[in-house]
Amino acid sequence: MTHRLALGRTAYDRGMATIEPSIFTRIISREIPADIVFEDDRLIAIKDINPQAPVHLLVIPKTQAYRNVAELALAEPELLAAMISVSQSLAEEHADGDFRLVFNSGDAAGQTVFHVHAHVLAGGLEESSLV
Ligand code: AMP
Repeated sequence: MTHRLALGRTAYDRGMATIEPSIFTRIISREIPADIVFEDDRLIAIKDINPQAPVHLLVIPKTQAYRNVAELALAEPELLAAMISVSQSLAEEHADGDFRLVFNSGDAAGQTVFHVHAHVLAGGLEESSLV
């Protein structure tokens, strides 16, 4: 199966057409299943398979051109803004509207999937903890 469409135009512009599809790209292309809670032309949101909070969603750009939030912010700040807007809407839909947004950036910060994504944590979080 080809992943050409799922990788997005930006990846092609950079000549990255042969990169391995990430787990999230494979979810976006419906190659593997996930619990999808939101989707539009640029973003998808799914329930995290290993939730760390009562509500734990992942908001993911459909392009896998950016490994982390810093790369995304430099190249497409409006796409980052769209991720935050969708995160707010999802926190209102799935919890009381309050939420914590986490972007793990790098191995030592616990990042395991190098296709930028926001963790949306909500639904009654500890006040004194960030994790
Ligand atoms: P990070 O460690 O910040 O890269 O986050 C990756 C997240 O993806 C983890 O919280 C995983 O639980 C989650 N994850 C990995 N595979 C899947 C999957 N197939 N469906 C939903 N969430 C996943």
